[in-house]
Amino acid sequence: KAKQNGKNRFEFYTEDLSNSVHTRLNIEQSMSKGLKNGEFYLVYQPKYNLQTRKIFSVEALLRWKSSILGNIEPMNFISIAEETGFINQLGLFVFKKACEDFKYLQKETNLEMISINVSTVQLMDSEFIKNLKDILFETKLNASNIGIEVTETFIIKNMEEILETLNELRKIGFKIIIDDFGTGYSSMQYLQKLPIDVIKIDKSFIDDLSSNNQEIIKAIVAISKSFGYLTVAEGIELKEQEENLLKLGVDLGQGYFFSKPKTLQKLINYLA
Ligand code: C2E
Ligand code: MG
Ligand code: MG
Ligand code: MG
Repeated sequence: KAKQNGKNRFEFYTEDLSNSVHTRLNIEQSMSKGLKNGEFYLVYQPKYNLQTRKIFSVEALLRWKSSILGNIEPMNFISIAEETGFINQLGLFVFKKACEDFKYLQKETNLEMISINVSTVQLMDSEFIKNLKDILFETKLNASNIGIEVTETFIIKNMEEILETLNELRKIGFKIIIDDFGTGYSSMQYLQKLPIDVIKIDKSFIDDLSSNNQEIIKAIVAISKSFGYLTVAEGIELKEQEENLLKLGVDLGQGYFFSKPKTLQKLINYLA
């Protein structure tokens, strides 16, 4: 079946076995070996200013080319890494690599910002802040050029445990980005409490720009403006969506319509 679809080998597993203990154990063990063997790497997807069409930043996205399991999508291994705690190690690798790459990008291009996805499990790790400070020190990067993307759903779930860490990160200078916004039912109370710089509107709204969803986006934009947050629309695939989002007042856009995630070298060529 997997072959017929022309997809990679893992699709086969995800269709039939993704929840089986066997597969989870397999993935868990392979991840740890894979990290040692250099099977994980990052790709970068630009975010654009919708008005000027200029690149505002890039988002680092993790990829895993497993020698045993083939290409595996983040949605099929991040949650397992979170459950086992391996995400702390993996996330540190991501942060380090993204910062090193960004250092290089700053030399080669005029890119000003990068954003990195961080799991709330990492935010609850007592070593997390110290580790990031070490990386900043080693790379001599300025935290204010680095965004940390955290998914709204998980923030709400772990609000009490992570609020202090988020505040601390923002104090260091990192930009805080609420990812997949609109799916986690944040109340106004939460929005007020959280240290936020950017709100990233979830792809599900962009996929279906019905009049209801347009009204929701308008409301998110209005709230963001009044609180001084930037808004990003993720998953823009069509020109029509881009035009609509610009009209709705969204600041930034990201998606296949503009650019797919690229390897570091391809990104440098693209930016040049
Ligand atoms: P996310 O942070 O919301 O990232 C957006 C996802 O949408 C990415 O999938 C990206 O490749 C994909 N995407 C971007 N534009 C389009 C589009 O126009 N159409 C469609 N259909 N998809 C688009 P990806 O790379 O598979 O990552 C999935 C999720 O895995 C991410 O969602 C993020 O939550 C998580 N993730 C990825 N890398 C990392 C990481 O380094 N650390 C952590 N903790 N999570 C990560
Ligand atoms: Mg993200
Ligand atoms: Mg997102
Ligand atoms: Mg998303």
